Amino acid sequence: MQDEPIDPFAGDPGDPSADLDANEDGEPLTEAERQDVLEDLADLEIYQALLTPIGVRGLVIECEDCHEPHYFDWDLLRANLRHLLTSGRPRVHEPAYDPDPDHYVTWEYARGYADGVHDALADATDDGER
Ligand SMILES: [Zn+2]
Repeated sequence: MQDEPIDPFAGDPGDPSADLDANEDGEPLTEAERQDVLEDLADLEIYQALLTPIGVRGLVIECEDCHEPHYFDWDLLRANLRHLLTSGRPRVHEPAYDPDPDHYVTWEYARGYADGVHDALADATDDGER
């Protein structure tokens, strides 16, 4: 175990490391960024397993570039996250072809759905122990 170096700009709004374009040169992700992507990948597995049986094919994401919703199938989402993990760069968006919006939900919806299922399972377990 190594101690984290102290960031001299921590809490400083002028922090040069806060530059959002830092990854445009393909610099490797920071450990925290890698962790975020790995968590997204793990969440994705759960959402796909829970939502596919009710007809959901993937997620809809509001694009920061063109401000329109893009529809991504589960496989494409996973490929994009893996690409980000290895290259440090998000992929140029290539949404699903001619998607049916009824079959896509937001991250927020998927997260809420997974939480609801988790709570229901936890309740069921509690009841069984009483
Ligand atoms: Zn876009």
